[in-house]
Amino acid sequence: MTSAQQRKIKQTGCDARFDNLTRQLYATDASIYQIEPIGVAFPKSAQQASLVIRAAADAGLSVTPRGAGTSLVGNAIGEGLIIDFSRYNRQISDLDLEKRSVRVGAGVVLDQLNDFLRPHGFCFGPDVATSSRATLGGMIANNSSGARCPIYGTTADHVRSLEIVMADGRVKKIGETHASLRTERAKIEELVRAAKSEMAERWPPGLIKRWPGYGIERFQRAPSDLTNILAGSEGTLAAIFSAELKISPLPHEKGLGLIFFASVGEAMQATVELLDLKPAAIEHIDRPLLDQTKGQLHFQAARDLLELDTKPCEAILIVEFYDFGGARTRPRFESGDMSPHSKSSVAEKLSILQSKKIGLRKKILTDAAQMNLAWSVRKSGLSLLTGRVGPAKPVAFIEDAAVRPAQLPEYVRGLQSIMDPLGLEASYYGHAASGLLHVRPVLDLHSASDLKKFRQVADQTSALVRQFKGSLSAEHGVGIARTEYMRDQLGDELLEVLREIKRTFDPKNIFNPGKIFELGSALRADRTAQRAVPTKIDNHLRENFTRPLELLFRPVLAFALKDRSFIGNLEQCNGCGGCLKQTGIMCPTFIATGEEVMSTRGRANIIRAALAGRCGVRGHVRAFESGDMSPHSKDPLKSEELDAALSNCLSCKGCTPECPSNVNLALLKAEMLHARWRRDGLPVRERIFSNVDMLGRISCAMPALANPILEFKPLRGLIETALGISAKRSLPHYARERFDKWFAKNCSGGPRAPKGAHPPTPELGYGVTGRGPIQKKRGHVILWDDTFVRYHEPHIGIAAVRVLEALGFEVALVKNRRCCGRPAFSVGNLDAAAKLGKHNVSQLSTLNSQLSAAPILFLEPSCWSMFVEDYRELKIENAEEVAKRCFLFEKFVDDLLAHEPDALQFDNRPATIAIHPHCHAKSIVDPAFMGQLAERLPGRKAKVLDTACCGMAGAFGALAEKYDLSVQVGQRLLDAIDDQPRGTEIIASGTSCRHQITDLTNLHPKHMAELLAEAIV
Ligand SMILES: Cc1cc2nc3c(=O)[nH]c(=O)nc-3n(C[C@H](O)[C@H](O)[C@H](O)COP(=O)(O)OP(=O)(O)OC[C@H]3O[C@@H](n4cnc5c(N)ncnc54)[C@H](O)[C@@H]3O)c2cc1C
Ligand code: SF4
Ligand code: SF4
Repeated sequence: MTSAQQRKIKQTGCDARFDNLTRQLYATDASIYQIEPIGVAFPKSAQQASLVIRAAADAGLSVTPRGAGTSLVGNAIGEGLIIDFSRYNRQISDLDLEKRSVRVGAGVVLDQLNDFLRPHGFCFGPDVATSSRATLGGMIANNSSGARCPIYGTTADHVRSLEIVMADGRVKKIGETHASLRTERAKIEELVRAAKSEMAERWPPGLIKRWPGYGIERFQRAPSDLTNILAGSEGTLAAIFSAELKISPLPHEKGLGLIFFASVGEAMQATVELLDLKPAAIEHIDRPLLDQTKGQLHFQAARDLLELDTKPCEAILIVEFYDFGGARTRPRFESGDMSPHSKSSVAEKLSILQSKKIGLRKKILTDAAQMNLAWSVRKSGLSLLTGRVGPAKPVAFIEDAAVRPAQLPEYVRGLQSIMDPLGLEASYYGHAASGLLHVRPVLDLHSASDLKKFRQVADQTSALVRQFKGSLSAEHGVGIARTEYMRDQLGDELLEVLREIKRTFDPKNIFNPGKIFELGSALRADRTAQRAVPTKIDNHLRENFTRPLELLFRPVLAFALKDRSFIGNLEQCNGCGGCLKQTGIMCPTFIATGEEVMSTRGRANIIRAALAGRCGVRGHVRAFESGDMSPHSKDPLKSEELDAALSNCLSCKGCTPECPSNVNLALLKAEMLHARWRRDGLPVRERIFSNVDMLGRISCAMPALANPILEFKPLRGLIETALGISAKRSLPHYARERFDKWFAKNCSGGPRAPKGAHPPTPELGYGVTGRGPIQKKRGHVILWDDTFVRYHEPHIGIAAVRVLEALGFEVALVKNRRCCGRPAFSVGNLDAAAKLGKHNVSQLSTLNSQLSAAPILFLEPSCWSMFVEDYRELKIENAEEVAKRCFLFEKFVDDLLAHEPDALQFDNRPATIAIHPHCHAKSIVDPAFMGQLAERLPGRKAKVLDTACCGMAGAFGALAEKYDLSVQVGQRLLDAIDDQPRGTEIIASGTSCRHQITDLTNLHPKHMAELLAEAIV
């Protein structure tokens, strides 16, 4: 693209980016496809969108509207200009409860809308599984729907009117009440009328999720309403800027019937019979999916509830019933009205279901928690499957085909007859009530033989679906994945109707070319494309499939949690967009900024791009091991793009548990940095950060000198210039007496008796906290005196000793312990981290017999996670054995008090306590126990805050260039604290978190050890 063209687009005033970083970030969606765009624009108003679309068209660029990019078929990517509507258009307005309508910007996310509607007793009906990030614009353009389709229908059923931007830049409102685009409407009406009998012949009734490209069948029923054509048009006709939507009441009551079957066929057969009960949903899960939950702690409760271990089955139907209250009304999606529907209550329907002679056994659930547990298995279905280890993955390409529910048994047999001869594994789960099964054959798209099978399955499935007069696409769209089969599915006559509609709206094929219609002579190919690549299912595949990613360096980490390889874990990112959500612990930098590059997906995409040579500039690149210079290649370890992606990752580990495929950015980042430092040498700043323990040792020898220096402004200015450590950031002061020195003074050689006391018996010792004799009834515990407790916050260590002694433990420190290695690990100095780890593990493995089995307790979660996770990742011998003895201090105490509530006596004092758990703790354990522990103190009400990383993240928040981002990330924590009642005591388990809170507020949070120690009576 020429700079003049770029200038023209930028002159519209719209935020538009053409840099390589942005182009790589938007080259993929959640599909297996990849197309690099020319640039991305982020319009703030319909006017801006109009100007930018016109400018793009004038420049000969195609335009692909985009929301969250969670589409599975490759329709959210394109060669021209991507128009991202998710960034700014997030306004919700004009809620009218009488009319049951609301207005949304195209970028409003479904969860955001439902959070807004819930207090009013309403919701937006169609429930996509990607509700945490899918935009209403994307949902309308994809005519998305979910499990409750039998009562809520699809998104198109809920659109009252649309504000659209057309190919020539006109902004129009369309819908039943808008008289605009009369000529277009009349033309389409005529086309559709002429195709009536062909539609009737090809599309027999009974399929609620039929997706015919454009909604001509729907339009035929309501020809005054052009939204029927726009909804489901996949951004190929116009861009949607805002929408007036119908809203639905929330159900008053719900109930779930689970039916267990001996075969998928029987479950399919039963579905037909159950439809008479008018359920809200019938969802099917089969054994391959259920087997993925085996041995997973997270799913054990659901397995127990479903009795899967004791009473195995081949398939389950989850049948859900809704009751909409006394009037026995419910939303009727065809009209969006509320109309009397069924006289039976949820209880009556469940009782009818119970009495039916189907399945091996049944289970009725009405308790909300149990129903959620059962749903959790179904909802995690896709994630459970896609997180599969190894290069072969369940691939989305025939996953969206639907037939009439009565045909399901025969259809499944047909699919099996396609898979079996090819030796392919597949799971058949999904929306049985709508006749839609998400079948994803397991294929290794890196291999030529599986690529061949990929085509064979696609061709044969298209033929099978046609035979059933079904729909190859039902809720995910046509996109690249199914455009090739549109002629086959629709026939020439109907395809020509669609083509005419496309010409009517977009005569120059500006909008999303190559989707729904193959690129070819009939429609002008995008002028920006060097050569128009025909839309085929096996063209435009993600580059890593066609040219496997090559690692030119030797990774050192084990990726022990999953995958056991760097590339394996990197390729787990399928683009599903789970990391674009606004809740939980993944991904704090995206939550703070809304920028794609600040998401886990963005980072994984950029690492892939860098390894594939799509980042940086060509030049001389030093070879990895030999140090030789190799000309002309792009440096996979060093580029602006890679820096933007990796340097802002907090290594908070939020993605590891929350990404459905367990992409572990903290490890991927550490490995990339390590490879770079090994080749280019470790920079001074990273060297200093790796040695904070040594700094502590030196500075604690002369705190009177060290502490004033930390606050000496001119020197801080110099440090900022030389090392990039922000002068705005306070640095932690050094303690006058180190914790280990205090401990040695008070207890070295065993507990000492206070003056005048009787010498202790073997059972009775004296506590180091000087409160008199203690019962040493529980043996030894080792307290890990981490760098921060030792040199900066000894009072926390002292508090912990006090609690442990009061419990009856004899506390020991590890004499020759070194830093756990976390600071070195975070900056990619993995050699140093491994060295420290080896030393520590060896120290702990060779302790005397009294201590060799003693629990090792951690006050700092980031050190604990080093021992329980990262030492294994560093392949340190005996790390697993030592990890079994490592506990978070709070968890250890809470477990003990759960068994022996009277083991400690606390004062009774009414207080509210808010707890911010460290992200490393949250990534490994459910932090709810921290609230439980605080509430063991009589009178206290505790709340575990819904927060993610505090933004300080070790040294991250101290870096001058990261200070602003650190504060931005911390805002969520500050807001959560602000929301607490006045006088709430704040507890934060991580030293960085306490530092961040103190720096940004007037508060001084405590460690849980302090809270407990102060309350002991
Ligand atoms: C794990 C997973 C689970 C899923 N589950 C479901 C499910 O339960 N039900 C379901 O229906 N789908 C599901 N999907 C598919 C996808 O999430 C939905 O289609 C979703 O509604 C897409 O929204 P989006 O904002 O991500 O749109 P995008 O992916 O960004 O775009 C989708 C299409 O809409 C077009 N588009 C986007 N915004 C606009 C606009 N403003 N104007 C015009 N065109 C626009 C794009 O060009 C593209 O063609 C799932 C996907 C994944 C990865
Ligand atoms: S990082 Fe995980 S959650 Fe995010 S897009 Fe990739 S697979 Fe999905
Ligand atoms: S480690 Fe944290 S900041 Fe980095 S990608 Fe994962 S969730 Fe985001």
